[in-house]
Amino acid sequence: MTKVAIVTGAARGIGAAVARRLVADGFAVALLDLDEAGVKECAAAITADGGKAIGLGVDVSDTEQVEATVARIADELGPPVVLINNAGITRDNLLFKMTDGDWDSVIGVHLRGSFVMSRAAQKYMTQQKWGRIVNLSSTSALGNRGQANYSTAKAGLQGFTKTLAIELGKFGVTVNAIAPGFIATDMTAATAERLGVSFEDLKAGAAQAIPVGRVGEPEDIAHLVSYFVSEGAGFVSGQVVYAAGGPQD
Ligand code: NAP
Repeated sequence: MTKVAIVTGAARGIGAAVARRLVADGFAVALLDLDEAGVKECAAAITADGGKAIGLGVDVSDTEQVEATVARIADELGPPVVLINNAGITRDNLLFKMTDGDWDSVIGVHLRGSFVMSRAAQKYMTQQKWGRIVNLSSTSALGNRGQANYSTAKAGLQGFTKTLAIELGKFGVTVNAIAPGFIATDMTAATAERLGVSFEDLKAGAAQAIPVGRVGEPEDIAHLVSYFVSEGAGFVSGQVVYAAGGPQD
């Protein structure tokens, strides 16, 4: 039977690449995003290439929407046994300028979003006695100027990952986190705009400080997700892998 995977924030960037990779790996994939038109377009492109995918608009921080969406995925595609908590936003500012809204929205999408999505999906995984959850953390979890909200959320996701790994292991469910460094997506393009530099210059500058001499691409992260959700990765759980082109402190 085809296994069903859910990828959040899948309209573009890392999420879209992960969805394409999981389809190539043989999964039926539900692509979720706030951007309903974008995610439907991605799903249609996958279907046109012969894959099985649906695109659904949802705010991952909204419990009711999440519960209804995960139930719908189970009805339409089958019980979801893979969940990639990838949806994310940045609202960068130095602490003294950071608003309550900047804080709440970032914590809401990353932490509450991953929590409500995981709670809704684990029901199917534990029933099936098999599951894989992968959470997107970040090198910013180790501290990053201007990102008190984002680095707190990304560090929080590492604790969340380890705790779910402990709770869900006996049901055959593994839970791991990927902490990417600089990945070329709209998110980092927006950082370039905010800093007033071209995206090309930002990438070139970042690449100089990365041991492998380049910035990451969404497919670099999709490759690691593919490993974590594979059958053979069943003894690897509660881990945080930094995918940043070199070691992290
Ligand atoms: P991206 O290009 O900005 O894509 C993120 C997607 O998430 C967008 O399509 C966005 O929709 C969606 N999203 C935001 N809030 C949502 C919500 N409440 N419900 C559902 N979907 C929502 O970002 P990315 O660079 O691919 O990043 C993906 C993940 O990797 C994020 O968790 C990010 O923090 C993490 N990460 C990225 C980097 C990097 O260098 N790019 C590094 C480390 C970690 P809208 O377009 O409608 O906002």
